[in-house]
Amino acid sequence: MSAKPHTVTRFAPSPSGRLHLGHAYSALVAWQAARDSGGRFLLRIEDIDPGRCRPEFDAGILEDLTWLGLTWEEPVMRQSARMDAYAAALSGLQQRDLLYPCFCTRKDIQREIDDAGHAPHPAGPEGPVYPGTCQRLGEDERANRIVAGEPHATRLKMDDAVASAGPLTFHDKAAGTVPVDAAVFGDVVLARKDIPTSYHLAVVVDDAAQDVTLVTRGVDLLPATHVHRVLQSLLGLPEPAYAHHALLMDNEGRRFAKRDRSLTLQAMREAGQTAANVRAEAGFPDDPPALG
Ligand code: GLU
Repeated sequence: MSAKPHTVTRFAPSPSGRLHLGHAYSALVAWQAARDSGGRFLLRIEDIDPGRCRPEFDAGILEDLTWLGLTWEEPVMRQSARMDAYAAALSGLQQRDLLYPCFCTRKDIQREIDDAGHAPHPAGPEGPVYPGTCQRLGEDERANRIVAGEPHATRLKMDDAVASAGPLTFHDKAAGTVPVDAAVFGDVVLARKDIPTSYHLAVVVDDAAQDVTLVTRGVDLLPATHVHRVLQSLLGLPEPAYAHHALLMDNEGRRFAKRDRSLTLQAMREAGQTAANVRAEAGFPDDPPALG
């Protein structure tokens, strides 16, 4: 009889602000899931966007999590150091003719949608579905615009990707087995104009690189899992299990956000709250013993 494999979880914040109580909850959910199975808890700093991420917020994440009593395996993964891995994944998809360059600005996309006239335009989970303008460009025009240095993103040919991946499901602890329907996202961006990757690509490549077996994150990211399963399948990556958790709300019933400065862990600490108080407020009243 083989031993039950250990659960590997991760907390993957973006260093674009200080952590708040909602992050503490999310980190504790991941940490607890690893602890419950004698597994491993990993930290990944999702810092692909240099315009929004700051070193002091990166340091703040480590400080706040340490103060909360969490421990994680070293080294911490930083996505800013992983661009080669994302490029390799993109090149695999490119070889399968599943990508195309997109030169559109936000304005171009809106104009195309308005001009198409057949309202309502389909809205995907991430906003209006890209109308496919640049997929219809001829090879010569594409090549000329690239040679001319026109900035471009890289999009996934979602219909081809879905056809190539075949029927898929993912397993969520609360929702059970969910049939994947990624087509509703349209041709998602896998590399941004300004950054040679995107959230969807980086998260999938890195969950696999870190051997994550259980992805815990807020239910707001559940729709993205449909895209992630397609990418995992195309890239030949293992399928983790998922546990999308409810979002912690503030006293007004709103999601925690960067605007709630008084509710950052730093502010709570400076106001004299103890880590035990904050853990209890996040729904984790027990002391976190060290992960073995
Ligand atoms: N970096 C994302 C965030 O801070 C989380 C990504 C994930 O857990 O998949 O919202």
